[in-house]
Amino acid sequence: MILDKKHAMQQKLFRQFAETEFTKELQEELDTTGAFNWDIHNKMAKYGFMGVKIPTEYGGAGGDYMSYVIMNEELSRQDLVLSIYANTSNSLGGGPLLLAGSEEQKAKYLPPVARGEKILVFGLTEPGAGSDAGGTTTTAIPTEDGESFVINGRKCFISGAPMADWIIIFAKTDLKQKGSRGISMFIVDMHLPGVSLGADEKKMGIKGYPTSDVVFEDVVVGKDCLIGPLHKGFQYAMKTLDGGRLGVAAMSVGVAQCALDEAVKYAKERKQFGRRIADFQGVSFMIAEMAADVEAARQLTYHAAQLKDANDPEAGAACSKAKFFAAEAANRCAYKAVQIHGGYGYIQEYKVERLYRDARILSIFEGTSQIQELVIANGLLR
Ligand SMILES: Cc1cc2nc3c(=O)[nH]c(=O)nc-3n(C[C@H](O)[C@H](O)[C@H](O)COP(=O)(O)OP(=O)(O)OC[C@H]3O[C@@H](n4cnc5c(N)ncnc54)[C@H](O)[C@@H]3O)c2cc1C
Repeated sequence: MILDKKHAMQQKLFRQFAETEFTKELQEELDTTGAFNWDIHNKMAKYGFMGVKIPTEYGGAGGDYMSYVIMNEELSRQDLVLSIYANTSNSLGGGPLLLAGSEEQKAKYLPPVARGEKILVFGLTEPGAGSDAGGTTTTAIPTEDGESFVINGRKCFISGAPMADWIIIFAKTDLKQKGSRGISMFIVDMHLPGVSLGADEKKMGIKGYPTSDVVFEDVVVGKDCLIGPLHKGFQYAMKTLDGGRLGVAAMSVGVAQCALDEAVKYAKERKQFGRRIADFQGVSFMIAEMAADVEAARQLTYHAAQLKDANDPEAGAACSKAKFFAAEAANRCAYKAVQIHGGYGYIQEYKVERLYRDARILSIFEGTSQIQELVIANGLLR
C-alpha cells in the first residue's frame, strides 16, 4: 500500500523523532532500571503523541487509525517500550471513554490525558480472568441511596498502574447474571482510599513501563464514574480491544522491521570463512523470510486500519488477523535476527538481544495469539 501525502509526512516526522530522541543510552537505561522516564514522556506529550487519536474537541490531534498505526510502527521500530508510552492514552485508556463516555466524562478526563498531564490505564485482567475476561470477580455494589458504588477486587498485570492517575475497570454489578453479563465499566481515581498497588512486576522485556496489580478494598466511587450503561460494560471492553489489537499489530510491524534492519546490517559486516555471512545462502534466505514477514504484517495492519477508518463491519476480524500475524511475525523475525548475530545476539550490547525479549509480549497482551485465532475462526465458522 502506498501512503498518501499526509500519512507519508507523519511517518517521516515520527521516524525522525524516534531516531533523535530514543537514544541507545535511553533505551539501555530503561531496560536496566525498569523505571518510567518522565522526561521522554513529557517530550512526547509536548509533540502531541498522547492524543494522536483523541478528537480535537477533547484536546487531541484528531488523527485517524492510519496515523495511529504509523505512530506505533515508527516508535516501536526504534524501541517497543517507548511506543507503549504513547499508545495507552490513544487506545485502551482513551478508547472506552470515546466509545461510551458521556459528554461530561469526555470533557473532564480526555483533555489532560491527551496533553500527557494525567495517565489513564486499563484494568480488565484479573488473576483468575485473563483470556476469559468475562470471568471477572471484581464487584461494584450500588449503595442503598443509589448514589455510589463500592468496589472490591484485584486487577493484575496493569500496564502503567504505578504512574496512573485514573484507571478504567470492569466489575460485576449484577451478581445474578452469569459470565460476561452483568459487568459494568467504571473510571476510578487511583488516589482514592482503598486503592493500592501490588509490587512492580519483574518482566522479561518492555522494561521501563512499569506493570503491577491494582487492589480495590471497599473503594467508594460516585455514580458519575460509571461509563456507559449499567451491566453492559463488557461489550465495550471487547470493542476497545479491537482498536488496541490494531495498535499492537503496528508495534509488531515496527519490531519486525527493526529485527530485519539489524540483521541486514550485521550480515553485511560480519565475516566468516573469508566472506560476509550475507553471502551464505542459509543466512540470506533467513533475511528474505524476514522481509516477506515484515511486508505481509505491514499490509495486513494498514488494511485493518483502513477498515477501522471506514467503520467497516469486517474491521474487528481484520484487527485480529493483523495482530495474530504481525505478533507472530515479529517473534519469528526477532528469533532470526538473534540467530544471524550468532553468539553476539545473545549479548546485551547488541540490540537484538533486547528485541527478542521485548517481542515476546506482542503475542500475549491484548489477547494472546490463540485468542486472535478463536476470534478469526468464530467469524468464519458461525
Ligand atoms: C506485560 C503485560 C502487560 C499487560 N497489560 C495489561 C493491561 O494494561 N491491562 C489488562 O487488563 N491486562 C494486561 N495484561 C494482561 C494480558 O492481556 C493477559 O496476560 C492476556 O490476555 C492472557 O491472559 P492470562 O495471562 O491470564 O493467560 P491465560 O488466559 O491463562 O492463557 C494461558 C494460555 O492458554 C491459552 N488459552 C486460554 N484460553 C484459550 C482458549 N479458549 N483457546 C485456546 N487457548 C487458550 C492462551 O492463549 C495462553 O497460551 C498484560 C500482561 C502482561 C504480561
